[in-house]
Amino acid sequence: DICIGVLELQGDFLEHEAMLKQCGVKTTPVKEKQHLQHIDGLVIPGGESTTMGRLLVEFDMLETIQKLGRQGLPIFGTCAGCILLAKDIVGRPTQTRLELMNITVDRNAYGPQTESFETQVYSPQFRDKPLHAVLIRAPAIVKVGQGVQVLACKGAQGEHPILVQEGNLLASTFHPELTDDKRVHMHFLDIVKGYKSSATKKQ
Ligand code: GLN
Repeated sequence: DICIGVLELQGDFLEHEAMLKQCGVKTTPVKEKQHLQHIDGLVIPGGESTTMGRLLVEFDMLETIQKLGRQGLPIFGTCAGCILLAKDIVGRPTQTRLELMNITVDRNAYGPQTESFETQVYSPQFRDKPLHAVLIRAPAIVKVGQGVQVLACKGAQGEHPILVQEGNLLASTFHPELTDDKRVHMHFLDIVKGYKSSATKKQ
């Protein structure tokens, strides 16, 4: 049985939990360090990245999540979660974050007028129909480093990545948990299944 931990410090964790249940897996709230044991994957929801970063330090979870992510635990961050996973944040070199993914993000990049919008995007990963992307005061992924795969873009020519993967780590600037499209979460669960079977083999 797969059990996904959902970080419940702040943000839209309930929507992720509902979506994961629809995908047929169990979820467990992660509110303190010991909740990080025995999970097969971790979701970091959308919300406010500085607040979440501060709470991760306050609850002494930042380093543990960093370590688990480096050891191969699948982690999926949406929006604020994507910011927390990024190695670099434009103009905010000291913002607390996990620094796990080789990407640079620009917070609130779409400016105040168009803070929030929805758009249909083409994804080479999900070819059957476009992804419905809900962006809420979303960051932009402005640089994608080595080892990072772009799974969906806002631009028709492959510019403006909005869904990226680096091995066990998945990040989206949009909110698939706010739609009824399960494909992104199902993709995360595929990563989780791969991790789980390789972890069992090692034992
Ligand atoms: N603007 C938020 C931040 O910088 C992210 C918004 C979101 O998660 N929907 O953390």
